[in-house]
Amino acid sequence: MDCKQQTDTLNELTVGAVGRLLGLRLPSSGTICCPFDDHQDKRPSFSTFGGGIRWKCFGCNRTGGAIDFVSTFLDLDFASAKKWLLSKTINLEGAIQVPRPVQHGYFNHNQTKAVAESTPDHEVFAAYLMRCPILPSGLSYLAARGITKTTVEMFSVGQVTSNRQLLNQLVCLYGFERVATAGLYTATSTGQRSIPVFNDNSLVFPFIEKNKITYLQARIFERTKAPKWRNLARRSRRIYNADAIDGKAAKIIICEGVIDTLSAVELGLTPVGLLGVSAQLNSHQMTSLRNKLVCIMLDWDAAGEGRATELKQTLLQYGVASHRQERPSSTANDLNDFLRQKREIQ
Ligand SMILES: [Zn+2]
Repeated sequence: MDCKQQTDTLNELTVGAVGRLLGLRLPSSGTICCPFDDHQDKRPSFSTFGGGIRWKCFGCNRTGGAIDFVSTFLDLDFASAKKWLLSKTINLEGAIQVPRPVQHGYFNHNQTKAVAESTPDHEVFAAYLMRCPILPSGLSYLAARGITKTTVEMFSVGQVTSNRQLLNQLVCLYGFERVATAGLYTATSTGQRSIPVFNDNSLVFPFIEKNKITYLQARIFERTKAPKWRNLARRSRRIYNADAIDGKAAKIIICEGVIDTLSAVELGLTPVGLLGVSAQLNSHQMTSLRNKLVCIMLDWDAAGEGRATELKQTLLQYGVASHRQERPSSTANDLNDFLRQKREIQ
């Protein structure tokens, strides 16, 4: 593919697809508030047209295709914007391809303006975790699932007793904005009226990447119809135990969620955990798996099988061969079931 062909092919990418690569959610048709920082757009002026591949802002009068969008959004010249876009979309065969939609970035409905996600606030997360040491109740819950104290310590699992009090301390140290941006308050919270995202007594699982905490997830214990797992507000979910990918292990297990990841560790494996259906490894993580044996241990139910098939295909697009592990026992639906059966925990 020559230079001109590359430009033409890149300019066939939809605004929505380019938005995903930038962590923005942009529509394939219709009008939203201008996504560019230097245009404080009060009324929606940014439109996409031409089947979603052209865009124009009637407020700041900028217009173009995929490369122009990257150039404007990242403040790069055309050649650098093209290079950036190419690096995100070229596959092993040299073809240009956009990753499937993933839950990155978020859409701020109040402003109907796409917002890029800030980098994780390691300092605020560390200060949070430091103030929530695990309690006997948390340890016994995990023990009942076959997770030993050694693993709990290795993964720095915490437990929060009084969220409101803890977050007040952090607000004193870092200010409300920073604590809210870290995702520890609900999206609608304000300095006057704030609601923590996690419940009291929850177990808190830090996601640690290169010795820094990049995300937190909590397992709540209240009897409620709401999900038992709580995530940070307006932050993309990350891969649990992601560093395993860059580690020495020759074989990597891909499983589902925190508990199965810890279960895999208990079983002597080297796992990473995907959170939810939409969670995906990023392109760096995908390509790092090329020289590893990859074994998929997503849940052994209809949904898990479907996801496993999809994941196998996505991995292949990155040149990664993988193997779908068969159900390890006739009654195990997930890795934690298997671990408890092995340890004879009822
Ligand atoms: Zn504009």
